[in-house]
Amino acid sequence: MSKVLVIAEHNGNHLNPSTARCLSCAAQLQAGPADVLVLGHGAEAVAREAAEVAGAGRVLLADQPAFAQPLAAMLAPAVAELARGYTHVLAPSTTFGKDLLPRVAALLGVPQVSEVMSVEGPRKFRRPTYAGNAIITVEVPDDLPVVATVRNASFKAAGKAAAVPVEAWTPTATAPTHTRYVELRSGGGDRPDLQTARAVISGGRGVGSAENFAVLYRLADRLGAAVGASRAAVDAGFVPNELQVGQTGKIIAPEVYFAFGISGAIQHLTGIKDAGTIVAVNKDGDAPIFEVADIGLVGDLFQVIPEIERRLG
Ligand SMILES: Cc1cc2nc3c(=O)[nH]c(=O)nc-3n(C[C@H](O)[C@H](O)[C@H](O)COP(=O)(O)OP(=O)(O)OC[C@H]3O[C@@H](n4cnc5c(N)ncnc54)[C@H](O)[C@@H]3O)c2cc1C
Repeated sequence: MSKVLVIAEHNGNHLNPSTARCLSCAAQLQAGPADVLVLGHGAEAVAREAAEVAGAGRVLLADQPAFAQPLAAMLAPAVAELARGYTHVLAPSTTFGKDLLPRVAALLGVPQVSEVMSVEGPRKFRRPTYAGNAIITVEVPDDLPVVATVRNASFKAAGKAAAVPVEAWTPTATAPTHTRYVELRSGGGDRPDLQTARAVISGGRGVGSAENFAVLYRLADRLGAAVGASRAAVDAGFVPNELQVGQTGKIIAPEVYFAFGISGAIQHLTGIKDAGTIVAVNKDGDAPIFEVADIGLVGDLFQVIPEIERRLG
């Protein structure tokens, strides 16, 4: 029988929806309810939120000043210590999970399964490779714990359920001293998180400048959407790196994705192939983005966006 530990992602106040997606994955592992580990400082509200997600059997709250920030170097030894009692350790395939779990796997001396997109058996998974152009099936040997990141886009978030107990857990290992938190700089502002937003407004090189991105921010704010970008827009300095969507950026699955001035290179499409509806606006009618778009408009984004805003009233 599998015993699954899910590492919760949160911002200190709220649970990130990616945790509920991990619990959906855990439910397919022929295990009972999973334990959820919340590492934080003063994160009781997060633990209570986690306790109400279906599929959680128990929430373990590790409360330490060293865990106040999600620094992988600080969290990994604690996760590895607890992980020794489990057959599976799961975390979302977000920046948080992709930072943390490789360290956990290294401390346990096992390989990591990255970006699980479906569960074929308790130790057998399908995952993308070659920028999502091929899907491989991988199997973890029986004698090794499974340490895996779960692709957000591939699992629906588990719903709510009656609250399960929250228990305090204290790691025996003292937190490492070689890494310390200095400051957090975020370019995303107060907009929704790119990886969990229902709508994303993305811009590419065609937007032309950092100043011009204001047009996209304005539309995003009207729609309550997150803002994303192509790598060309990031490399040109129009937007910060954290907004990049694609193979070397974020893999997202919003209900609706708007691509303004983005050509549709394969490395960009990798990041949006699970999006519900793709809307593309491009001046070039032959742009490859139109091959994947559900709604395509050949036109200048600087004329189309004001027109959309006018129609929104
Ligand atoms: C290993 C590797 C990893 C990569 N990872 C990523 C990744 O994660 N994400 C990513 O995005 N890319 C990635 N790339 C880069 C990718 O190959 C493309 O170069 C990039 O996606 C192009 O960005 P773009 O579509 O914004 O720019 P372009 O390809 O230059 O396209 C700009 C588009 O804007 C249109 N346009 C111009 N002006 C307007 C206007 N006024 N109105 C409407 N349309 C207009 C043009 O017709 C054009 O189609 C990667 C490349 C490599 C080699």
